[in-house]
Amino acid sequence: MIATAEKAALRFHPVSAPDYLPVANLQQLQLDRLQATLRRTYDNVELFRKRMQAHGVRLEDIRTLDDIVQLPFTVKADLRETYPYGLFACPLSDIVRLHASSGTTGKPIVVAYTQDDLAVWTSVMARALASYGVRSGDIFQNAHGYGLFTGGLGFHYGVEALGATVIPISGGNTDRQVMIMRDFKVTAICATPSYFLHVLERAAEMGIDVRELPLRTGGFGAEPWSESMRRRIEAAAGIKAYDCYGLSEITGPGVAAECWFQRGPHVFEDHFYPEIIDPETGRNVPEGTEGELVITTLSKQAMPMIRYRTRDITALITEPCPCGRTLRRIRRIGRRSDDMLIIRGVNVFPSQIEAALLAVEGTLPHYQIILTREKGLDQMEVQVEVTPEVFSDRIRALVQLNNQLMNALEQTLGIRVSVSLVEPRSIQRSEGKARRVIDRRRLE
Ligand SMILES: [Zn+2]
Repeated sequence: MIATAEKAALRFHPVSAPDYLPVANLQQLQLDRLQATLRRTYDNVELFRKRMQAHGVRLEDIRTLDDIVQLPFTVKADLRETYPYGLFACPLSDIVRLHASSGTTGKPIVVAYTQDDLAVWTSVMARALASYGVRSGDIFQNAHGYGLFTGGLGFHYGVEALGATVIPISGGNTDRQVMIMRDFKVTAICATPSYFLHVLERAAEMGIDVRELPLRTGGFGAEPWSESMRRRIEAAAGIKAYDCYGLSEITGPGVAAECWFQRGPHVFEDHFYPEIIDPETGRNVPEGTEGELVITTLSKQAMPMIRYRTRDITALITEPCPCGRTLRRIRRIGRRSDDMLIIRGVNVFPSQIEAALLAVEGTLPHYQIILTREKGLDQMEVQVEVTPEVFSDRIRALVQLNNQLMNALEQTLGIRVSVSLVEPRSIQRSEGKARRVIDRRRLE
């Protein structure tokens, strides 16, 4: 199955043509679109106009792509403070779709699309799916939530535009997910990595080995996931698992997508211009250096984003990819500055914990991080499920595994944390984005 799929995936698909633009042409296109976007935003969005004036930057100052560094940033708080419609650059009558994200604190953020914006979003999603090897004839199970979240509808229109068959099952109802995957002979899927793992687990309980089904490719995202998690998913499902990067503020899924070689998502640079900055100073970092991803939309009409700070930590990869795409890549995003935990003064990311846990044999890809404070000191407990074999084993084996994990975590994080091995299925499963961290420190 994989061998023929491999050939199909490597064959050039017409929707991918813009992925291969000669760099000089791409840069000219980016500059033209950037200047048009700035004009439009300046004329229509008060916050941007005032900020440009406060920075003493004029539109005429932006003559090359490198001049972009002179422009002010946009941050998530700007979307909250102008809630709901304050950043729109066109009349409400031109807007045909609204999405919103349920911020964990306070007001949600609202994003808007014109007909043209939806067409661009659909086209980048079709290009993402084509790079995952999805083709006309594929049966695509869309297990992302449909609704205000951009995941479901983003994939939906991309699959249809590509000419494949979409099953709009949405998230949840896991038994039905498994039944449909088998009965409808599903060949491609999208979900959050954690929810897909839950589907696989449920399938196994129902006596179905997903590796024996026609499923061969999947696009996963909407939460950070590690390379070890990818390997677990690929082995358990017998598929290629690709990273799909996006965020509602920019368009939704489809900002960047991995190709067959899985060497980090290619940014659809003809629509989204990427930069990497030092999150502390706000200055652009040298090529290849890690920092915060900043994106400027180049074609968005309803709600252009100028130098939007994504809070995602990554690096730009400029070396050519064997697939031949000229689009630059970002390193897979395992970390969001929002996810950073500060434990006894040390910065810790859940994805580092995930990678360390899953590198040890006997663990299952289900874990949770519990933070408490005892006598003013932060305590971290990592709960991880272990395989039934380990769990039913002698106490000594469990103690050994526990020590092994504590050492692995200490090596990765630089601090000693406690580990609890728990029975399979004892950590609550999510139907969307996984809840990895339970922070009880504020309650004490
Ligand atoms: Zn590539």
